[in-house]
Amino acid sequence: FLRDDYELSPVSYNTWIKPMIPTSIDKDSKGNYTLIITVPSQPFKTYVTKKYSLYLSVSIEEVTLIKCNVVFREKSEQETKKYQNTLIDNKRHPVNNLKLLSANLDPLYTFDTFVVGKSNDLAHATAIAVAESPGSQNPGEHYNPFFIYGGVGLGKTHLMHSIAHYILEHNPEAIILYVSSEKFLNEYIDALKNSNLQEYRSKYRNVDVLLIDDIQFIGGKDAIQEELFHTFNALYEQKKQIILSSDRPPMELKNLEERLRSRFAWGVAVEIFSPDFETRMAILRSKEERDGKNIDNEVIQFIATNIKSNIRMLEGALNKLYAMSRLNKNQEIDIELAKTVLKDMITPDAPTKITSEYIATVVADHFNITVAELKAKGRKEPVATARHITVYLCRKMTNDTQTKIGQFLGDRDHSTIVNSEDVITKRIVSDSELNQTVETIKKKISPQ
Ligand code: ADP
Ligand code: MG
Repeated sequence: FLRDDYELSPVSYNTWIKPMIPTSIDKDSKGNYTLIITVPSQPFKTYVTKKYSLYLSVSIEEVTLIKCNVVFREKSEQETKKYQNTLIDNKRHPVNNLKLLSANLDPLYTFDTFVVGKSNDLAHATAIAVAESPGSQNPGEHYNPFFIYGGVGLGKTHLMHSIAHYILEHNPEAIILYVSSEKFLNEYIDALKNSNLQEYRSKYRNVDVLLIDDIQFIGGKDAIQEELFHTFNALYEQKKQIILSSDRPPMELKNLEERLRSRFAWGVAVEIFSPDFETRMAILRSKEERDGKNIDNEVIQFIATNIKSNIRMLEGALNKLYAMSRLNKNQEIDIELAKTVLKDMITPDAPTKITSEYIATVVADHFNITVAELKAKGRKEPVATARHITVYLCRKMTNDTQTKIGQFLGDRDHSTIVNSEDVITKRIVSDSELNQTVETIKKKISPQ
C-alpha cells in the first residue's frame, strides 16, 4: 500500500489482508488480468469486496503497472486442502494456476515475453531445446544440466521461468520447482533445525525439473554443497532435468567444490550477454506495448542509447518515466522529461559505474520488493531493513552525499539517512546473518 491515503493500520492489515490467499491470475482474450483472492468466509468476502478491491487494484497497478481486476472468493474446505497439498506435498494434480504458485513461477516470465536478439539468441535457442526434451541425455542433445550464466539483469531468471512454463504447458503432470539458491539454502537450514531433512530431500529429489537460480551464492558453504551434490546425483540418475544459473561459467565458480563444478559442466552452459542497441530498442518497444503506452521514438532511442548494461534498468527507466508523468498530471513523456528524470540512471561514459539508483534496484530485487516501496513511507519489515541497507551501500559504494541519497530515497532528511547508515554499521558487527545478507547484495551489485 504505497500511497499515504491507502496506508493501513496493523490491526486492519492483520485482520483483513493477512488472511487473503492470492490464488490465481487469469488473462482474458482482451489481455485483461484478474487476480482471484481466496478468503476464509462469506462475511469476510462481503466486507473486503466493498472495502479493499479498489485499493488492491490500485496498489497492484502502482507496483506492477498492470491493470488487474481483483475478485474475492470464499474458500471451500476442499480447496483449502488442495492448496496446502500443492505447497506441502508434491502431489500430482492437473495444471492450473495453483501449480504455478507451488512451482514458484512468475506468470509473466514466459518465452512469449522474452525478446530475442544477438545477445541472447543462443541462450534462448538452447532453452527451447531443453524445454522440448527435458532430461534428455541422448548424444547430440545432452542438456542436463542446463547452465545459464551472465551479469545481473540480463534475463537469466526470465529464461529459466520460461522453460518451466513451456514444460508445464506441454506436460501438465510435470512436477517443477524453481528456487533461488538462498531459498534452497535457507530451507535446508530450517530442515536441519527442525529435524526435517527427510521432507526437504523428498521435496527436492522428487521433481521432474529442478531450477536453482544464482547458484554462485552457495560458494563457500560446505553443508549445502554436499546436499546439492546428492540432490544433483539423485535427479541426474533419474534423467530429471536440472537448470542452473550463475553470474559466471561453471569452471569459474572457485568457491564451489570441484565435483559440483565439473557436474555443472556435464550438460550445456550458455552465456547471456549485455543487449546490443537493437535488442534494447526491441525490449523497450515490447514493454511499452504491454503497458499500453505509446512513447515517442526519440525517447525510446534516448533510453536505449544511454542505458546499456542491464535490462532491468531499461525497464526501470520506462517505469520511472510513467510514474513521473502520472505524478505531474499525465505530463507528456517527451525527450526533455526523459533527460531530467533519467539523469541519475544515465552514466553514458562509464556504463559500469555503480549508482544509487542501481543499488536500490538490486536491494529491492533481493528482498522481493519494489523500488517504489523502498522510497515510500512506512516502516514495515522487510522494507525498513532493505531501506537501511540501501542507504548503507549507497554510502559505501558511491560518492553520493547523505543529502542526495535522502532526496533520492523518497525525500528523507539528512538525519534519517545518517541513522540508517549507523544502524547497519552497528548491526553487521553482531548480527552475522545480516552481515551475510549485506555481503551477498554487495556481490550482486559488483560481482568482483
Ligand atoms: P537476471 O536473472 O539475469 O538478473 P532477469 O531475468 O531478472 O535477469 O531480468 C531482469 C528484467 O529484465 C526482468 O524484468 C525480465 O523480464 C527483463 N528481461 C530480461 N531479458 C529480457 C528479454 N530478452 N526480453 C524481455 N524482457 C527481458
Ligand atoms: Mg535472476
